[in-house]
Amino acid sequence: MTELRITGVDIYRGAIPMAAPFRISLGVISEADYLFIRIRTNGGIGGWGETTPISQITGDTQAINLAAAQTLARLLLGTNPLDIEARVTEMGRFLAFNSSVRAAFDMALYDIAGKTASLPLYALLGGGKRQLETDVTVGIDEPEKMAEQALALAKSGVPAIKIKLGTTADEDVRRIELIRKAVGDGIILRVDANQGWDLPTAVEVLHRLEALGIQYCEQPLARWDHAGFRRLRERTAIPIMADESVFDHRDAFTLTAGGCCDYLNIKLAKSGGIHTALKINAVAEACGAKCMLGCMMETRLGLTAAAHLVSARPNIRFVDLDGHLQLKEDPILGGATWRGTTITLPDAPGIGADVDPVFLARCEHDVVS
Ligand code: MG
Repeated sequence: MTELRITGVDIYRGAIPMAAPFRISLGVISEADYLFIRIRTNGGIGGWGETTPISQITGDTQAINLAAAQTLARLLLGTNPLDIEARVTEMGRFLAFNSSVRAAFDMALYDIAGKTASLPLYALLGGGKRQLETDVTVGIDEPEKMAEQALALAKSGVPAIKIKLGTTADEDVRRIELIRKAVGDGIILRVDANQGWDLPTAVEVLHRLEALGIQYCEQPLARWDHAGFRRLRERTAIPIMADESVFDHRDAFTLTAGGCCDYLNIKLAKSGGIHTALKINAVAEACGAKCMLGCMMETRLGLTAAAHLVSARPNIRFVDLDGHLQLKEDPILGGATWRGTTITLPDAPGIGADVDPVFLARCEHDVVS
């Protein structure tokens, strides 16, 4: 067999508006900006990946990612796409940070590996096919409006609701009081402050929420405040999950071995893709911590890649793959399907999803070959 080589990379740049603006404590998102990456090979097999940066979290934008993608594509030309270890190491050495654009290339490499092995990604990762249940997220709004939204979700059969918080203690507590009253006790509630509190506020809010049945609180404090996480964890019975504080396996080790959190939220856009996400989960497992798989505003392409990873690793206990529900358009052919909150994976080789050529025709297109 001739060794597989990367012969070219297509970079497509596009955007999809959101059905409604989505507010978190870090800002408001009203449009999702994408790069879709297709890595081509001499074997005729191509792989797809995507990046959707949220600049407040990943420190990059679509324009930054476009420039980075052109450079990364040149770095990869002529190399073996199946040596993912080497490719990911080279990309990480060449381009520190900028995790979301590296994630797009990582995803495309795994897509190629799965197609070459004729295995769906979950099987390539050595895992089984599981049916997954995602939560659905309610963005920051007036407490009454959030309670209405939560009630509508509960009535539609959503088993777990994630609620964005991170404004003031009184408002945040009122949000959860109204929501719990509206949905009753049978629904799982998770909260996410997106770094919106300082330590005294977090201690106060979580203390007041303890009687309201909160499954866990995501990222209560600033991403750098590991000591604050540790102190908060000693003062509340609500489990703490790190999100913006954990990008790679080294962060995972510092946080879990250091007793800073109970759970980790893995996102491919933060970890630079599947390769490092696997390491984060392994570190978490070694420290007795469960993980969640979360998302930015990815289309079903990125979400399908993430769902394969969850399926392959049962230590990833919680699923927060609902970003595409907020998009006005679904540009993906194939891929995982969502029936309500139940996610079913495809059995096609690799990620098992393609970007619709009709959507791509509207995108700016660069070729590196
Ligand atoms: Mg979060």
